[in-house]
Amino acid sequence: MSWSATVLTLYPEMFPGPLGQSLSGKALERGTWSFEARNIRDHGIGVHRAVDDTPAGGGAGMVLRADVLAAAIDAATVSDDERPRLLMSPRGRPLKQADVRALAEGPGAMIVCGRFEGVDERVIEGRGLREVSIGDYILSGGELAAMVLMDACVRLLPGVMGKFESGEDESFEGGLLEYPHYTRPAEWEGRPIPATLGSGHHAKIAAWRRSEAERLTRDRRPDLLGGPDLLTGADLLTGAESKRPGGK
Ligand code: SAH
Repeated sequence: MSWSATVLTLYPEMFPGPLGQSLSGKALERGTWSFEARNIRDHGIGVHRAVDDTPAGGGAGMVLRADVLAAAIDAATVSDDERPRLLMSPRGRPLKQADVRALAEGPGAMIVCGRFEGVDERVIEGRGLREVSIGDYILSGGELAAMVLMDACVRLLPGVMGKFESGEDESFEGGLLEYPHYTRPAEWEGRPIPATLGSGHHAKIAAWRRSEAERLTRDRRPDLLGGPDLLTGADLLTGAESKRPGGK
């Protein structure tokens, strides 16, 4: 069975959006992956199909109702559905390449896109949603975040990338940022390509790339050098508490 994503959203027409183009679009046509965007509003209340209500305790904004969202989740769940249920959320576990790899190796995901102030807390617990964040900033809805997550997974599915772009060298895969790239012309605006890269000496090239990757990571993302944090993607799939020292 191919990797499948079920997206629950108030804006199903946003999908597949950019995922219908390029690598992911071709893979979608070939059936390497599939997706279904389901409208949460189909389960809305009353003639107006209301999906949200005012926050208990007062305050600004609206909250997605637990009963409505749960009905949408239940209707989208197929029998023996082993896909993790994810909720895109700025409070969630920050998505890492290891999580993406683990998700890509699994059967797919059900992805809930929040809107407004977010969703009623009770549905997160009641339906076992695992919150995932794509970064420390606030989007207006979970749809773009879901697309980011899906794009990152789909490119790793077998046959989606060419064999020369297997992705193994990429930033974050080995816990380091990627080394710099160059291509023709050999000299551009007085800037030559680093001599080692033209040497044809494979071991020296590999050593140069490694040391550049280490230098870039030290300069820009010393946090990546801190430990094995990036190298386990199990939490998103199993929902287990992370055992990172000093962290949650
Ligand atoms: N009031 C919330 C933000 C709601 S933003 C808070 O302060 O935490 C509306 C929706 O956009 C969220 O429910 C979520 O689904 C999505 N969203 C916003 N920022 C996101 C992020 N960084 N990562 C993943 N999803 C995000």
